[in-house]
Amino acid sequence: MPLTVHQFPCLSDNYGFLLHDPDSGETAAIDTPDGEEYLRQADAKGWTITHIWNTHWHPDHAGGNSAIVEATGAKVIAPAEVEKLSKIDRVVAHGDTVQLGKHRAEVIDVSGHTNGHIAYHLPDDAIAFVGDAVFALGCGRMFEGEPKQFWDSLQRVKELPNDTTLYCAHEYTAANAKFALHADPDNDALREYADDIRATRERGEPTVPTVLARELATNPFLRADDPALMAKWGGDAPHETFAALRAAKDNF
Ligand code: ZN
Ligand code: FE
Repeated sequence: MPLTVHQFPCLSDNYGFLLHDPDSGETAAIDTPDGEEYLRQADAKGWTITHIWNTHWHPDHAGGNSAIVEATGAKVIAPAEVEKLSKIDRVVAHGDTVQLGKHRAEVIDVSGHTNGHIAYHLPDDAIAFVGDAVFALGCGRMFEGEPKQFWDSLQRVKELPNDTTLYCAHEYTAANAKFALHADPDNDALREYADDIRATRERGEPTVPTVLARELATNPFLRADDPALMAKWGGDAPHETFAALRAAKDNF
């Protein structure tokens, strides 16, 4: 049977995700913005959290680890940096494989927002949990990384199959759309996407998840190697254009 992803709002603008495998009965908490809320949501589904898969060490991603472990004994799978917040049962890094029942997730390095930021890609399920590396029409703020490192991370996301569903960790899309339209005003696909986002938010619905194909056509941070964007925003190499876009968004 296919995996179930249960998505719910957490804290002010995070999304929580519970990934459930009906065959094995295992359930992974993807990040832990709020441990109590995760436990409530799992309970309501009749699931027990058996694993925690963290994407990076920020408290709105790993701050709930200890509460969940205490309540359920869940095993923590995480990049080493999460040690700042909780114990880790298994440290993972780029190239590692993680299992939920028979379902396989590949760990991809997507550092740049922080060092040791990873994504979990489940190729057979065509989904990826990307944390704060990529957002719908955006990317994470560059707190710890360097532009070249972050740009290289985004290449690894861009190389996933186009139909991959991307589960981003925040509902930042409306604000991201405003900047994207400023960055890339002549992009018809972007204008159409921005209209959809407005309508979705007016209905009170989430804009997450998104699909990679749509982001490839519209997300300025993934498109920093587009000749028109390079001409408009400057830079001799795509990572320099990416840096210019990231800096402009920070001050937008
Ligand atoms: Zn973060
Ligand atoms: Fe975050």
